[in-house]
Amino acid sequence: MQSLPESTWQDDIRPLERFSKLGSDLKVDVAIVGAGLAGLCTAYELSKTGLSVAVLNKTNIGDSATGYTTAFATYDIDTNLADLVAMYGKARAKMVWESGRTAIDWLEETLKHEEIEAEFMRCSLTVFAHSAKEARALDKEAKTAMAFGFPISIEQVPNLGFAQAGHFTLHHQAKCHATKVLFGLARTCAKRGVKIYEDTEVTKISGRSPLLETATGHSVQAKWVLVASYYPIGRQGVTAFKKARYESYVLEAKIPSGRIREGLYLDTSTPYHYFRVDRRGDHDRLILGGEDHRADIPVPAKNAFTVLHRYLDRLVGPGKHEFVRQWQGHMIEPSDGLPLIGLTKPNHLVATGFSGNGFTYAPITAMLCRSIIQGEKHPWQALYSPRRIPNLIQMAYKGRDYSKILLGGALKNLFKK
Ligand SMILES: Cc1cc2nc3c(=O)[nH]c(=O)nc-3n(C[C@H](O)[C@H](O)[C@H](O)COP(=O)(O)OP(=O)(O)OC[C@H]3O[C@@H](n4cnc5c(N)ncnc54)[C@H](O)[C@@H]3O)c2cc1C
Repeated sequence: MQSLPESTWQDDIRPLERFSKLGSDLKVDVAIVGAGLAGLCTAYELSKTGLSVAVLNKTNIGDSATGYTTAFATYDIDTNLADLVAMYGKARAKMVWESGRTAIDWLEETLKHEEIEAEFMRCSLTVFAHSAKEARALDKEAKTAMAFGFPISIEQVPNLGFAQAGHFTLHHQAKCHATKVLFGLARTCAKRGVKIYEDTEVTKISGRSPLLETATGHSVQAKWVLVASYYPIGRQGVTAFKKARYESYVLEAKIPSGRIREGLYLDTSTPYHYFRVDRRGDHDRLILGGEDHRADIPVPAKNAFTVLHRYLDRLVGPGKHEFVRQWQGHMIEPSDGLPLIGLTKPNHLVATGFSGNGFTYAPITAMLCRSIIQGEKHPWQALYSPRRIPNLIQMAYKGRDYSKILLGGALKNLFKK
């Protein structure tokens, strides 16, 4: 990902310090591969337990998926709640949203407690339809969420600032600044005794008491390992065939202040579009993403960005926005709609398949992995277990979604006016 254009989060802030590469052999209780959001949230959570922790990162911190995100923190995940109910039943579907709610609370409390200034802001997520048919599906989604007791409003706000055919609002979600969160967590972890190494690629992991070999020539002997490298390294083991890479495109623009209420927005197209609006003094910043497609299908990025620019024109009006930058990144989509977090085999943990919800799943990884390492049962363990076998209903639901975005909106929408 290093050669891709920089995102606003990477441009906006440079870390005050860098961490050195691994310069000698090391023995720790827990080794974490990857200093992205998942690795650092988990390192922070483990730093409360008295266990010794080392985080090994191939690149510089921030040059990873977390640096390319749009940094929504929401429990309205990429699989619809109504679909989750059909795929997993009511209790587990509700548990998915509840775990996400706990995750956002974890993020808020951690940033506050550690005095990490990362532009974290509670705000609402507005989910909107483009057609009457989409609005009917949205209504079902909103009623399911309301029946579960989540904070949803279905009253139609008269003017959202853009055209739409119906919407609901999910309250008490959040947004933040991706690299401020990352660098803040890294600094805090280091202060709490976590050893962090950049420019240290893990090349091999072997043994039940995991031995990690690195490209620096030094190794780490651990009791536990968490592979939080976004896409798991080495042999895929139990995660094989349960995830795939999708490309997503993002553009940033300035729009007139107050044109659209500050917050998070999501449409119900397949592939969906998502945008956030941030107050920025004399203008508002709009960051829009979408046009996802399978990464191994060579859709020209130019087409995807063309379609995204048109979407922005429709949203705020041609000439009513000023282009700032664009970037793209990979999402890892799980075959049954839920991430793969937990034990792959004794003492080996993994966290992957976060879709567009890493800010929710990274804290979930932290809480789950801490429980597993401490030998405690956790109510979310089976739900997110990488060893679960997707059933036919789950595969069929997600297969339907993924077939619609195989080639992405860029091909479908390019010829639409
Ligand atoms: C365009 C886009 C928009 C998104 N929008 C959102 C959003 O709005 N909200 C949301 O919640 N999520 C969003 N996501 C998803 C979210 O960004 C990711 O799920 C999350 O950042 C993943 O964090 P991570 O720690 O798993 O991975 P990463 O941030 O990629 O970190 C993995 C780390 O592992 C390291 N690594 C890799 N291999 C090795 C190795 N062999 N040895 C050592 N280290 C290694 C890498 O250097 C990297 O630093 C978006 C993603 C994209 C691409």
